[in-house]
Amino acid sequence: MCFLCEQSNPVRHVDTFRDFEGVVREKLDGRKYVCEACLAEYGEALGMLDPKKAEKLKEDLKHAKNEITKLTERVAELEPYEAIIKKAAAPKPKTAAKA
Ligand SMILES: [Zn+2]
Repeated sequence: MCFLCEQSNPVRHVDTFRDFEGVVREKLDGRKYVCEACLAEYGEALGMLDPKKAEKLKEDLKHAKNEITKLTERVAELEPYEAIIKKAAAPKPKTAAKA
């Protein structure tokens, strides 16, 4: 049971290696554990990142890096055409009017 939220959820718990002994016998007596949900909630309050959010951000970063690689390759494929396009778009030199 989590010492903070007093729930017995089927999630991971951290053993604080500390014991609690109340004045009267109660359900929290004994070893103090803290559940994963409380750790995430209180950790976030201190500016720490929820492990699930961190994992999602790592996946997003991996996809973004793959996208950068694909786009970099595409730029390299198209670079030779850049000079041709610039030349075609450049204003034509004026020719003398014919009489
Ligand atoms: Zn809890």
